[in-house]
Amino acid sequence: MTQAIASAVVHDLIGIGFGPSNLALAIALQEHGQVHGHLDVLFLDKQADYRWHGNTLVSQSELQISFLKDLVTLRNPTSPYSFVNYLKAHGRLVDFINLGTFYPCRMEFNDYLRWVASHFAAQSRYGEEVLAIEPVLHQQQVEALRVISRDIQGQHHVRTTRSVVVSAGGTPRIPEAFKALKDDARVFHHSQYLERMTRQPCINGQPMRIAIIGGGQSAAEAFIDLNDSYPSTRVDLILRGSALKPADDSPFVNEVFSPQFTDLMYQQGTAERERMINEYQSTNYSVVDIDLIERIYGIFYRQKVSGIARHVFHSLTSIDSATADGQGIQLALRNAASGEVSEQHYDAIILATGYERQMHRQLLAPLANYLGEFEVDRDYRIVTDPRCKAGIYMQGFCQASHGLSDTLLSVLPIRAQEICASLYAHDQHDKPVSLTDERVLAAV
Ligand SMILES: Cc1cc2nc3c(=O)[nH]c(=O)nc-3n(C[C@H](O)[C@H](O)[C@H](O)COP(=O)(O)OP(=O)(O)OC[C@H]3O[C@@H](n4cnc5c(N)ncnc54)[C@H](O)[C@@H]3O)c2cc1C
Repeated sequence: MTQAIASAVVHDLIGIGFGPSNLALAIALQEHGQVHGHLDVLFLDKQADYRWHGNTLVSQSELQISFLKDLVTLRNPTSPYSFVNYLKAHGRLVDFINLGTFYPCRMEFNDYLRWVASHFAAQSRYGEEVLAIEPVLHQQQVEALRVISRDIQGQHHVRTTRSVVVSAGGTPRIPEAFKALKDDARVFHHSQYLERMTRQPCINGQPMRIAIIGGGQSAAEAFIDLNDSYPSTRVDLILRGSALKPADDSPFVNEVFSPQFTDLMYQQGTAERERMINEYQSTNYSVVDIDLIERIYGIFYRQKVSGIARHVFHSLTSIDSATADGQGIQLALRNAASGEVSEQHYDAIILATGYERQMHRQLLAPLANYLGEFEVDRDYRIVTDPRCKAGIYMQGFCQASHGLSDTLLSVLPIRAQEICASLYAHDQHDKPVSLTDERVLAAV
C-alpha cells in the first residue's frame, strides 16, 4: 500500500456510511450540540456522492413508509430537516398536499436525503471506503480506534476516533448457484439495476429474454419496470414461494415499527425475540405492496385474454444450476411440486435476492478479541471486554436484539437520539486522559 495519509485529529465519532441512519444521527448530534457543545464528528461513505439505493430508483417505486417517518419528525417535529420543510424549500408543499399521499416516490425521498446531506458537507467525506477499524492500544487497553479507508484514487487514509458507529447497510445476497457468474455483466443484483440496464441490448429495442429471481418488492419493481420501459423484453419471474404475497402494513401490525416496540423487543430473551421477528416477517421480507401485486396479476391476466404470452410466472421454483456461454445464461429450474427440472435460456438475469447484514463483522475483525458475539446494549453500543474504552455502536445490524425496525427508516430519529445521548454520556465519563496527538500519530 502507498503511504497512507494520517490525520493527527482525534475525532469523538467516525460514522461508517452516510446513509439515512447516520444522516439522522448527524442531525441529532448537531441539534443536541447547539445546547450541550458540539462533538467532533466525521462520516465516511464509499459512494462518490449522496445516493439512497441509487440504482434501484425506477420511476414507479414508492416509499414503503409514511413520509412522517423522515429523519427527524418522531424526535423533533420542529427540526428544519423534516420532509415537510424540504417540500416547502422546493416550492412543492401545496402540490404534495394535493397528491393526498403519505408515500412519496423514492426518487423524491432520495432528493430529500441529498438535500439534508448537503447541509452536512463539512462533516462528511464521500468516495472513501472504510476497510478496517483497528484498536489503538495503550497499557493493554483499547483507548481509541483507528479507521482505515481507501479513496477513489486508491489513496489510503488513517484517522483516529474515540467512538465509531457502523451504519454500512446491507450487502447484496448472491445465491450459491450464481456465485461463479459474479463477473458476468449479464448477471447482476437488483442493487445495480439502473446502471446495468443501460448496458443491455433492449435499451436499443433489441429482443431479450430476462429472468428475475426472487419474489419480494425488488423483484416486483423490476418486473413492472421491464414490462413498462422495455417492450422488447420477455421476462420470467422465478420465485421459490407459491405466490407473490402482500406486505402487511395494517395498523395494529405496524405497531412493531414503533419506538416503544424496540423496548419490548429488547427486554425479551433470545428465543422470544426470534419468535417475534418470525411472527412479523411478512411486514418486510419476501413480500410485495398490494398495489404492485394487483398490477402484475393484471399484466398476466391480459396475456391470457390476448393469447400472447410475453412473460412467464414460475412459482415454487428453485435454481439447480446456472451456466454461461457466448449465447447467454442457462438455468436449470426445479419445480418443487412436481420435481421436474427444465432448462431455460436467458440473455440476462436479475438477482432480486435481498441483502445480508455481515459488514460489521468484516470491518470490526481487528477488534475481535474485545467484542465477543456482537451483543449490543439498548443504546446500540456493542458490549465489549472491559479493556475496550472506545465506543463501538451499530445501526442496521441489531435486528436480532432491537427488532425489525432496525434495518428500516422506522425509528431513525429516536435511535439517533439514543445513540447521541450515549455518546455524550460516554464522552463525559470515559474520555481517555492519555490520548495525546503525539501518541495518536505514533500509533498510525
Ligand atoms: C431498494 C430498497 C428500498 C428500500 N425502501 C425502504 C422504504 O421504503 N422504507 C424503509 O423503511 N426502508 C426501506 N429500505 C430499507 C433500507 O435499509 C433503509 O431505508 C435505509 O436505507 C437504511 O439506512 P442505512 O443508513 O442504515 O443504510 P444504507 O441506506 O444502506 O446506507 C449505508 C451507506 O453506507 C455506505 N457504505 C457501505 N459500506 C461502506 C464502507 N465500507 N465504507 C464506507 N461507506 C460504506 C453505503 O455506500 C451507503 O451509503 C429499502 C432498502 C432497499 C435496498
